[in-house]
Amino acid sequence: MADVRDLRIVVIGAGMGGLGTALAFAKKGFKHIDVYETASNLGFVGAGIQMPPNVVRVLDRLGCWEEIYADSTSVKGTSIRQGSTNAELSHVDMPDIEEKYGFPHCTGHRSSLAGGLYNGCKKESAIKFHFSTALVKVNSFMPKPSLTLKPRDGEEFTVEADLVLASDGIKSVTRTQMLAELGTESQEEDTGQAAYRIMLNRADMANDPEMLALLDSDDVVRWVGERRHIIAYPVSNKQIYNLSSAQPDTNFAATTNATYTTKGSKAAMLKVYEDFCPLVQRMLNLVPDGEVCEWKLRVHKPLVTWVHGSVALVGDACHPTLPHLSQGAAMAIEDGAVLAEIVSKIPADKMHDPETMNKSLKVYELLRKPHCSALVDLAAHSGRILHLGAGKAKEERDREFKQNGKTGSVPDKWASPDVQKMIYSNDCVKEADENYKRLFATL
Ligand SMILES: Cc1cc2nc3c(=O)[nH]c(=O)nc-3n(C[C@H](O)[C@H](O)[C@H](O)COP(=O)(O)OP(=O)(O)OC[C@H]3O[C@@H](n4cnc5c(N)ncnc54)[C@H](O)[C@@H]3O)c2cc1C
Repeated sequence: MADVRDLRIVVIGAGMGGLGTALAFAKKGFKHIDVYETASNLGFVGAGIQMPPNVVRVLDRLGCWEEIYADSTSVKGTSIRQGSTNAELSHVDMPDIEEKYGFPHCTGHRSSLAGGLYNGCKKESAIKFHFSTALVKVNSFMPKPSLTLKPRDGEEFTVEADLVLASDGIKSVTRTQMLAELGTESQEEDTGQAAYRIMLNRADMANDPEMLALLDSDDVVRWVGERRHIIAYPVSNKQIYNLSSAQPDTNFAATTNATYTTKGSKAAMLKVYEDFCPLVQRMLNLVPDGEVCEWKLRVHKPLVTWVHGSVALVGDACHPTLPHLSQGAAMAIEDGAVLAEIVSKIPADKMHDPETMNKSLKVYELLRKPHCSALVDLAAHSGRILHLGAGKAKEERDREFKQNGKTGSVPDKWASPDVQKMIYSNDCVKEADENYKRLFATL
């Protein structure tokens, strides 16, 4: 008997989006899921990640949250401080996130999140990973998508699938080709910002009580200055303090988009933050010479569509974002969960009908594009507010910060109770379940 779960699914990329997508389809009972990844392994950078309740809800359903939670920190508040003085502009208490939204807001190590998803995938016999294998091109988007893939040390080969989910990141080959077929260009956008990512070990912080207090707290701290900020929080059972910054991009400004990361100079990093307070200086000074790494922060102009034929884009491939709202990976994982929910609803007698598949993917786009676009805009907006220099706008911002969210809003949008309510209460899978039929009928 025909069964939609017999569809052959190809996932491109084993980042957070790809892993989440593969696992979500396996949990829905799909039996043939092949994941192709350029890199030879998961290869996640040494960096932290915030996992907000909206994605924890999804991870919990996928059965991998318990493992990830084991070394995470449940955030109880955020302290937004003037970078130059360490004076607190605002402290937003978040003691009851779990009570309010059913799941906590956590910080953790990227390798924990990726590892939890990957371990979940490995338990599913339906999922096959093909590392060191890159998508070279999409030969056709419909009726059956066909792909050319290339193993690192082997000959190119062709794969046909019923559905291709391209979670191939900001530099997505699939997106470029999809847009070209649709007569538009892929237009990446320079944000003018770059980020340092730093991890400090407990042992290195042990002799500094002020630093240890940060590591032992359940707070996220953001130090803000003109055109720059640093956000920091504990990860790995509070054995590591993770710092991530945003500053004007000077080192990448002249380069092409071939590479987005570079070994940075410690002296240059210290210079960028030279007028930040002694506490920040002491932390930056702990970074070993030669271990400063800088990321170029890029986004993409809004896409006309995320879907073509039986191919859909997922995660950073379709909605890359500045990190200021801490929702990029969360959105990518949610995308996969929504796709799995929707595709599982395709009636068996229509599972090989290209029009039904395309319309179903369009439902995914209808559900996700307005939401993700709003979050991408909000992240950019929050960055502009956080990076204000002296003047009336900054005075107004600091006055709003002083009200400590009592009005239901603070200028740092990730910490803002009204924004949290909008994002954290969103149950994307339930929304997909409840709206699939109605939205499908509109297409
Ligand atoms: C400084 C910083 C801080 C951040 N903080 C947070 C945070 O706290 N919370 C949060 O939710 N998000 C955060 N993000 C965003 C988050 O990291 C990304 O949005 C998320 O990782 C995107 O996942 P993805 O799977 O879509 O893309 P990627 O992680 O880029 O994965 C794409 C994968 O596809 C593979 N690939 C690419 N091309 C091909 C090809 N042709 N063939 C085969 N494989 C291919 C790549 O090797 C890669 O493994 C942050 C980002 C930055 C830069």
